Amino acid sequence: MVRQKKCRVIGEKPHVLYFKPRGIPLRDLEEIKLTLDELEAIKLKDLMKLSQEECARRMQISRPTFHRILASARKKIATCIIHGKALKIDERVRLVNARKYRCLKCMKEFKLEYGSKPKNFACPYCGSRNIESLHKIVWR
Ligand SMILES: [Zn+2]
Repeated sequence: MVRQKKCRVIGEKPHVLYFKPRGIPLRDLEEIKLTLDELEAIKLKDLMKLSQEECARRMQISRPTFHRILASARKKIATCIIHGKALKIDERVRLVNARKYRCLKCMKEFKLEYGSKPKNFACPYCGSRNIESLHKIVWR
């Protein structure tokens, strides 16, 4: 029986979806797939330095689930670096706009006012325009 994956909230997809060791042809490389929720876990915890409680809250999952996703993500990335494997961001999910935004400068989340345009929208807390929209993952 396959357990249905729960809904998770993540930021925008990265622009780069593939990393490989230099000098080794793709056909000779083993590929490791990093899911978008694993990527988000790494971003929130290791890049934004948020607490595990805060990360779990933002992704709308429990703390144990967040811990499991983070551990899996770190292991996959470490395996790629240590053993020279390719890393592929698995983007085969549908992302639904969560109507929420995150400021990448002050890390606060907020809802967009009705009628505002995300393109020229600034963070209501710090005024930064470095903003990403949040999405819910729909697993395929
Ligand atoms: Zn801000």
